[in-house]
Amino acid sequence: MIKAQGYAAQNAQSGLAPFTFDRRDPRDHDVVIQILYSGICHSDIHQVRNEWGNSIFPMVPGHEIVGRVTGKGKGVTKFREGDLVGVGCFVDSCRECGSCKEGVEQFCAAGMNVTYNGFERDGKTPTFGGYSDVIVTDENYVLRVPEGIDPAAAAPLLCAGITTYSPLRHWKVSPGQRVGVVGLGGLGHMGVKFAASFGAEVTVISTSARKEADARRLGANQFLVSTDPSAMAKAMGSFDFILDTVSATHDVNALLGLLRRDGTIVLVGAPEKPLPIAAFGLVMGRKTLAGSLIGGIAETQEMLDYCGEKGIASDVEVIPMQQVNEAYDRTVKGDVRYRFVIDMKSLSV
Ligand code: NAP
Ligand code: ZN
Ligand code: ZN
Repeated sequence: MIKAQGYAAQNAQSGLAPFTFDRRDPRDHDVVIQILYSGICHSDIHQVRNEWGNSIFPMVPGHEIVGRVTGKGKGVTKFREGDLVGVGCFVDSCRECGSCKEGVEQFCAAGMNVTYNGFERDGKTPTFGGYSDVIVTDENYVLRVPEGIDPAAAAPLLCAGITTYSPLRHWKVSPGQRVGVVGLGGLGHMGVKFAASFGAEVTVISTSARKEADARRLGANQFLVSTDPSAMAKAMGSFDFILDTVSATHDVNALLGLLRRDGTIVLVGAPEKPLPIAAFGLVMGRKTLAGSLIGGIAETQEMLDYCGEKGIASDVEVIPMQQVNEAYDRTVKGDVRYRFVIDMKSLSV
């Protein structure tokens, strides 16, 4: 066993505190990764606070992991010691079902094995995530991180990056299309960068005017305040595609009104409570309401390579582990520009 140090939540009210646990010795196809940085995704907060009602404690969160390979099993062919690598939201899947064979392992019929708050394939060994100094992962679920990207700014690509890249690609967002990105947080700011880099005309749709200058700097052409009724009325019927990254209950019907005929809105945000939808908002104008979940291993690698080529990474605030609980509160308040990333060196201070 490999001794690991990290931070864990003991229950939905405890917040995160130091925690020591074991990682398995590498099997034939495992790589041992010394974790350098781990991003704080709003999904970590939902799960640590049991907002989705499926939490398993103790929980070591973290699925935006970047680190270096420090060891490997004898069957590993894809990585060498010293390689800069990443681990995202899942660490295994059945490898046999249609979804796994098609490279969309996040939709594995047997259920993907999530990086934390889940179990390994044996169905009983708990998985622990990236708020820790070391992780042992099968090479087929490890990503190569381009060396040109700052590793701290690369970490959020493993979830916020792929979660926004995948639907923009799947729905073929292309030059000249009018794209709205709702919520300028961790996911939203990556959505803006990707949609702009795919040539779309991007509007950030935000609850207040305070992020407008940032939105434009990130690549948005326009900024729409969703709490301003006259601005919303003027924008009715004008978007081809909307990516909704909002983490809390909000008015999807108002967003449907922003779509043109045959437009599509894709939910990637995962609020705790169901969102009411009025049928008329969809049937009038033949609109599509869809959802999307992270991305498969092949597409995650494609996204990372694309980021390496185009110089795209996340805008991050790097923090020591000791500030993680405060960072959660700030994220919930929308007070982060635009992703907190934990520097794992702080664990040994
Ligand atoms: P985040 O950094 O906290 O950003 C969420 C943004 O939503 C905020 O910055 C804010 O933007 C907006 N917002 C928050 N409360 C709102 C409200 N009451 N009404 C309207 N807008 C509000 O969170 P994140 O890490 O980007 O994650 C966003 C959501 O996606 C979470 O629910 C997370 O669990 C989910 N998620 C889903 C997937 C997937 O695969 N589908 C993957 C990762 C995360 P403004 O300040 O601009 O209004
Ligand atoms: Zn995430
Ligand atoms: Zn499968």
